[in-house]
Amino acid sequence: MVTTQPMCHICGSEGEPLLPWASGGGEMRHCSTCDFVFAWPVEEIDPVEVYTQAYEGHETRTQMDDYARRISRRDVVAEHESLGLWSPAHHDTLAWIEANVPKGATVMEVGCGLGAFLRALRDRGYNAVGIDVAKPVVEAAQREGFQAWCGTIDTVPEGWAQPAVIVSFFVIHHIQDPVAFLSTIRTRWGVPLIIAYNRAPTKETFDTNNFPPRCWGWWSEKALGRALARAGFARVEISTQAKGLPQIFLPPKLHDFVSSVLWRWPKLRVMVQPFVEKLLSAGFKLLRPIPRLRRSFEGGLLIIATPAETNGRVPALEEVKEVRA
Ligand SMILES: [Zn+2]
Repeated sequence: MVTTQPMCHICGSEGEPLLPWASGGGEMRHCSTCDFVFAWPVEEIDPVEVYTQAYEGHETRTQMDDYARRISRRDVVAEHESLGLWSPAHHDTLAWIEANVPKGATVMEVGCGLGAFLRALRDRGYNAVGIDVAKPVVEAAQREGFQAWCGTIDTVPEGWAQPAVIVSFFVIHHIQDPVAFLSTIRTRWGVPLIIAYNRAPTKETFDTNNFPPRCWGWWSEKALGRALARAGFARVEISTQAKGLPQIFLPPKLHDFVSSVLWRWPKLRVMVQPFVEKLLSAGFKLLRPIPRLRRSFEGGLLIIATPAETNGRVPALEEVKEVRA
C-alpha cells in the first residue's frame, strides 16, 4: 500500500502535520478526531523480511538491531519467567485468562516474540499457539514444541487454530493498516482480543525508534477505542497500567549501565523485579487521582475487546483485578 494522500488509518481524514520522522522521509500527522498520530507516507514493506532481518541483526533503521540483542537473551528469558513477563499487562492478562478460559483451551498470541507468554500459558495448562512475522523467533518457538506460524495474520491457513481468546502485546504500533489487522482478527476468529500498548511518545518525548519502518502509529485510549469499534468490536474496555521495570526512565548512559548489570546477573534482576514492581504499582495507585503526577508511573494501556457475537459472559477488567487481589 502506497498512499498518495495523507490519511488517518482510523477515519481517513488528512490530519495535521505534527513532526518529521527523525531520519527524514516522511512525517507524523495528528488526527484530532481520533486523537491518533499516524506516519505518512505509508510505504510498502514486507514485515516478514524487515523483522527477520532485524532479529538477524541486519536491520539497523529505527534501532531495530534491538531485536538481535533480544534474541541473544532468549535462553535467559526462557529460564526465568519473570524476565519475559516484564509488564503488569502480562500478569493481568494471565489472570483474566485463568478466570475466564478453561484449561486446555487454545490461546493464540499475535506477535509472540521470544515466546515468554506462550511458555507462561503452557505452564498453566493452556494450548498456546503463536504467530510472528520474524522467522528466527518462530523457528525457536517451534523447537520448543509450540505450534507457531511465520507470517502476517492474513496468511494463517484456514483452520490452523481455534483460539478461545487472542492476545497481542506491544504490537499494534508496528502495524501499517491497523483497522484491517483488527478487523481480520475479529472476522476470522470472533473471540475476545486482549491488547497491551506502551504509553505513546509525544512531540516532546519521542525517540528515534518511534518512526517507520518500526512504528506506524502513536496510539491514545480514544484512538484504540475508535479503531476497535471500526473493526467491529462491540465492547471495548481500556485501563491504564503501572510501569514495569524496563519502563523506568533513566538518563541513557545510566540506563545502559543498569540494564547491562541486570542482564549480566539475571538472578539479581529476578530478585529485584518484584520489589520494583510493587513500588511502581503503589506509586501509580497513590497518584492515580493526580493526572500530571500519575503519568510518570503510567506504563501503558490494557484493552479487552469483545466482538458482538461472542457467546458467554466476559467479565469486566476490574472484576479480574479483584480476583488477583
Ligand atoms: Zn482519524
